[in-house]
Amino acid sequence: MTPSRHRTIDGPVEWLGDLVGLFLPRRCAACDRPLIRSETSLCLGCLNDLPRLRLHQEPGNRVERLFWGKVPVEAAAALLQFNRSGKVQRMLHRLKYTGDRTVGLELGRMMAETLQGSERFSTLDTILAVPLHPSRLRQRGFNQSQVLVDGFREVWPLRSMHQSLMRVTRTTTQTHKGRWDRWTNVKEAFDLVSPEVLAGAHVLVVDDVVTTGATLEGCIRALTSAPGLRVSVCTAATA
Ligand SMILES: [Zn+2]
Repeated sequence: MTPSRHRTIDGPVEWLGDLVGLFLPRRCAACDRPLIRSETSLCLGCLNDLPRLRLHQEPGNRVERLFWGKVPVEAAAALLQFNRSGKVQRMLHRLKYTGDRTVGLELGRMMAETLQGSERFSTLDTILAVPLHPSRLRQRGFNQSQVLVDGFREVWPLRSMHQSLMRVTRTTTQTHKGRWDRWTNVKEAFDLVSPEVLAGAHVLVVDDVVTTGATLEGCIRALTSAPGLRVSVCTAATA
């Protein structure tokens, strides 16, 4: 085939692809390929190939160990293995920075389906997203962890208490600080408005990613002012 002939065949096909893209602009949140109608936010290939973890069935797993000796946690799990250059990073980036709710809702549903299969989370009755600072919330327009909670509750409608926990200190510089400074900074960052509302509850705290656990630790520390409260943790991904 000569180059010129190649172009006359490929040209219209590419043009048709662009035209279809106008009507079907949805793309896979992990690999960016166009989605077919039956796919929600991930293509079937990526959905079947997600780096899923089994931490929900593993007492003393590495996410739980982040909180040992700091705050009491009943059970903790993360759905996916986070990889900076990989698909999980792209999915979470899509949720957090482009405001694509569909991928967050899908991840939230997967988190619920996963935890429902574990005896260790069976007594949960309440769910809470790690709150954003109000100024960050105004800037971004939404809380990515709340989107996960919304998806979770489509599958498992736990009581939602998103107004009860407030973030009171901004923590943007925490990545440049040492471990102790970071802990101190986050410790001041949450305030439980009405502890009595959560008395005796088993609360699932939800965040997008857990790395050091410092943010979740601050969150859980504030929650423990509610009498008789038990806390479990689930994130979409872990490093
Ligand atoms: Zn894909």
